[in-house]
Amino acid sequence: MWRKIVVGITVAYAIIALYLIVNNSLSLAWLLPGLLFFIGLFSWGVFDIRLGFFIPVVFKSPNPQPRTVALTFDDGPTPYTLEVLDLLQQYQAKATFFCIGQQLEQYPDIAKRILADGHTIGNHSYSHPNSMGFLSTAQVKEEIQKCDQIIEQLLQIKSPFYRPPFGITNPHIAKALRQTKHRVIGWNNRSLDTVIQDENTIFKRIYKRIDRQPIVLLHDTSNRSVQVLATLLKQLQQDNYKLVNLVEFLNEEKQ
Ligand SMILES: [Zn+2]
Repeated sequence: MWRKIVVGITVAYAIIALYLIVNNSLSLAWLLPGLLFFIGLFSWGVFDIRLGFFIPVVFKSPNPQPRTVALTFDDGPTPYTLEVLDLLQQYQAKATFFCIGQQLEQYPDIAKRILADGHTIGNHSYSHPNSMGFLSTAQVKEEIQKCDQIIEQLLQIKSPFYRPPFGITNPHIAKALRQTKHRVIGWNNRSLDTVIQDENTIFKRIYKRIDRQPIVLLHDTSNRSVQVLATLLKQLQQDNYKLVNLVEFLNEEKQ
């Protein structure tokens, strides 16, 4: 909604500025602020998934349940996923794994255990290309569908959930996703577990806002993240939090 308002204001500004320029009332330079504003906004929309600028993105529950958390793990499965699964099992917690197709091919047994343990599996593209933001609609669609096929062949399920690599969305990615009909899942609690080195800093970062921002983005790709998870699960259990997979988290929305 707000996107339409902002685009509308920018377009109106451009039309008025153009009209005045044509009538020699203004110099061409007056178009520049509107143009810069629009470019800035577009770039912000590309990198901040929470804006849902190009396609609706789930990044919070419209009907939040108290003390309910959705942990999400991106970029696996990897051998670290097994440690994550052991910890989740120990604390009877459920979570969601956004898997890369190539990783699923490499670690099919771990993928099967994720599902068997009651967690949700989502699509995180086939190869997680660094160039994701520059691919054509057809190429993005291929990345998504190839991962879908692997999930289907390996696990005999269809996942309606997709999380964009790097959280990047743009018109091509949005168009591809409208065609594949995935539900785009963002986050509102970014752990930065692949960036921050200190485990305690990462834990505090997540924990201090877990009540208001319960969709946590983690990665099952390093020992550091496993250690953060161990501390987090212990604390959340003490505080009586319920840790649910995405299916349950989203079903609660509808109640
Ligand atoms: Zn990723």
